[in-house]
Amino acid sequence: MRIISARWVVPVERPPIADGAVALDDDGTVRMVGTRAALRAEFPRAAEERAHGVLVPGLVNAHCHLELSALADAVPGGEGLVPWTRSLLKSAADLPRDRRRLAAEQAAAAAVRLGTAAIGDVGNTLDAAPGIGAAKLSGVLFHELVGSREAATGDALADAGRERARADAEAEWPAGLGYVRAPHAPYSAGADLLRRIFAAAAGEGRATSIHIAEDPDEIALLRDGSGRWAAVLEALGVPPGSRVPGKSPVAYLAELGAFDGAPPLLVHMVHADGDDRRLARAAGATVVLCPRSNLHIGGQLADVPALLDDGLPIALGTDSLASTPDLSLWGEMATLAAHFPSVSSARWIEAATTGGAAALGLPAHGALAPGKRPGVLDVLVDDLSAPLESLVRDAAPSLRWVARA
Ligand SMILES: [Zn+2]
Repeated sequence: MRIISARWVVPVERPPIADGAVALDDDGTVRMVGTRAALRAEFPRAAEERAHGVLVPGLVNAHCHLELSALADAVPGGEGLVPWTRSLLKSAADLPRDRRRLAAEQAAAAAVRLGTAAIGDVGNTLDAAPGIGAAKLSGVLFHELVGSREAATGDALADAGRERARADAEAEWPAGLGYVRAPHAPYSAGADLLRRIFAAAAGEGRATSIHIAEDPDEIALLRDGSGRWAAVLEALGVPPGSRVPGKSPVAYLAELGAFDGAPPLLVHMVHADGDDRRLARAAGATVVLCPRSNLHIGGQLADVPALLDDGLPIALGTDSLASTPDLSLWGEMATLAAHFPSVSSARWIEAATTGGAAALGLPAHGALAPGKRPGVLDVLVDDLSAPLESLVRDAAPSLRWVARA
């Protein structure tokens, strides 16, 4: 057992503690959080270490694609999701598996150096799993299914299940990493497959994840078959009419049974309208914001004040290195704080910690609270009179792990 004291401790589930301290068991489990004086009184013989900055729990990245890490800087943005996706698929086509796996492993290690303790990673393949294990990240791997897998194999869910079993057989699955099959997006799979994925997740009692209301072309396709996705689907031999429910994205999810079990993580929600937000709120869903990716691809952010006003829980993700410069949640927080100055800094910290932990079902993560094992960061800030504001303002703070998760 040891005590780490600091000018400020940010437990997240309660307000920052001035002249605070954290008592940790040898395995990193939090024993007690409070003022330094209270902890010294409780554990008079414990060794004490002094932090240089602010103590914060390890961060939770609720949406990433480590398997795309080899495409860093390779996919230009700014014209919307359809051209970005075309460019991504072209760049990814000739990527050797070894290179994809090595880049994923390096990116996972870099994410840890940037203060990430847990991750919700999305993969078409399971190639990121060994890298997640090597980096000792906790989390969930969402196995992303699209209509072409269904067309090629007859049953995308069963095929994914076989791939997962192979990873076990080849000892490539890290102990403790969660696994859920996930739909990519409402335009990339038919209604029947989407329904079956949601039913499978509900049957397993797990929340899955979906990209939703990300881009205006998605809204247009779902509403009336217009927009740029129609031509892409036609080229793939998919009748665009089969992807036109005549509804807004979240209303379509409700029709597909997405909210019959644990609600899926709703990733992006940049173009969600008021009805979408209310449906998501009623379902108890968490919205995962990936602001730098949204700015890179489409140049627009979600209406975050409206999401918060409507009472939606939020979490943060980085998306992949194909649409963001690094896997730093500090960069995401700084972007949000700069664009939405009316939102309190505490909301961004919550989103990057407890928000992601709750959405991914990781009860040990997200907060400095007794019994949790979230990892503890010592983060330097430039203004000790305003610790939370300083934490979210700096996109690349100097930090070190006091204890790993
Ligand atoms: Zn994504």
